[in-house]
Amino acid sequence: MERAQRKVLILSAKSEFREGDSVEVLTEENTFRGTIMPGRERFLSLKLNNGYNMGIEKDKIKEVRVINRMKAVKEQKRPARERKSLKCIAVLHTGGTIASKVNYETGGVSAGFSAEDLIELVPELSDIVNIKTELVSNMMSEDMNFSNYRKIASAVKKQAESGVDGVIIGHGTDTLAFTAAALSFMFEKISIPILVVGSQRSSDRGSSDSAMNLVCAAEFIRQSDFAGVAVCMHSSLSDDKCAILPATKTRKLHTSRRDAFKAVNDKPIAFVDFVTRKIEFLKTDYHKRAPGVKSKDVALQDGFEEGIGLLKVHPNMSKGLFEFFTGSYKGIIIEGTGMGHAPTNTEENLPNFNILKRFIDNGGVVGITSQCIYGRVHPHIYTNLRRLENIGCVFCEDMLPETALIKLAWLLGNYSREKAVELLPKSLRGEITERTTAENDHGI
Ligand code: GLU
Repeated sequence: MERAQRKVLILSAKSEFREGDSVEVLTEENTFRGTIMPGRERFLSLKLNNGYNMGIEKDKIKEVRVINRMKAVKEQKRPARERKSLKCIAVLHTGGTIASKVNYETGGVSAGFSAEDLIELVPELSDIVNIKTELVSNMMSEDMNFSNYRKIASAVKKQAESGVDGVIIGHGTDTLAFTAAALSFMFEKISIPILVVGSQRSSDRGSSDSAMNLVCAAEFIRQSDFAGVAVCMHSSLSDDKCAILPATKTRKLHTSRRDAFKAVNDKPIAFVDFVTRKIEFLKTDYHKRAPGVKSKDVALQDGFEEGIGLLKVHPNMSKGLFEFFTGSYKGIIIEGTGMGHAPTNTEENLPNFNILKRFIDNGGVVGITSQCIYGRVHPHIYTNLRRLENIGCVFCEDMLPETALIKLAWLLGNYSREKAVELLPKSLRGEITERTTAENDHGI
């Protein structure tokens, strides 16, 4: 078919279908059946009958046949009634899949949600707590900047000062752990639980984890004396329990599994049994809500230095990378190999060593972490690591590289360079554990 002719067909077809219509889309190679969703300029978005979403390039479409027109449905909302006997929590929506409301006609996930929407999505919540909701942003978490962290923190502060008993932050899973770490550094003192909650599978799929993660978070806030920031996510492949994970020691370790989030070099703070609703604490040294301390007592330090970079070491690294990082940033976290190595030893790589030395001499900060995930960096085992320590590189023990990145940005955003260097290798929010134990490294 001629390109011009094909375009006309698509345009005419386009005028005949609407979001929510069930259609058959014909391209040169395939036929797709599904529901039209709100789309992007060059793509037609389709929710396939198997539940997955796909974008089809409009230029490749030969024809769109409407199978069923969308029926207009009236949304029914259960009012979110406040019950005096229940605790009150604020649910902040930042984006991602969690707690977004799916419109089953269009298959699209709606922008924000109200308390009523949330209760409709997870009706059990209203038996556990009273809910207030606030839309902070509606974005994919890979797009987050420090300015978003500030916005979330100021919403948390406002809610805490209004007297809520806890806050749940619905968040995209990809960078959820970065945000949890950032909030934990920002709030040195907060007397209520702040739980960052995500969902690996969207709410419209049978295997969605959003409802269970939210219910477990609400139960944890209702029952426990925990105060501070933590992550609440599925802990196994079955719908049996969620883990309450330490904000600075948690990582997304799987792209799609519901139990993707694990404590690394650490253990969960607690488990929430979804069936019995019992809380089992694994830690006893967590921050507790002190009797008499009001949720209003909040100390927020929300400075972040923008000029921080994370440099991952690999073989055959371009020499220009060290130049670029030291020229662009005030602080660098090196995600080294093994115990914290970087290519700085051979005659060929010696310039990298000299670049780092010059950078530190001129006021830059270099933190060393490992890409091994488990275990800790150590400056005294290999001579070349001693050399890095001697020029002022800071070895960050078993701190996750992501946490070190956030921590260094936060330190340089709130303290002098000297203080930042002093505090980087010290555990402020549990980001460094004293010893690596077999139970903390998943038996590796
Ligand atoms: N990349 C998206 C995000 O992290 C994935 C959706 C999700 O996990 O919620 O926001």
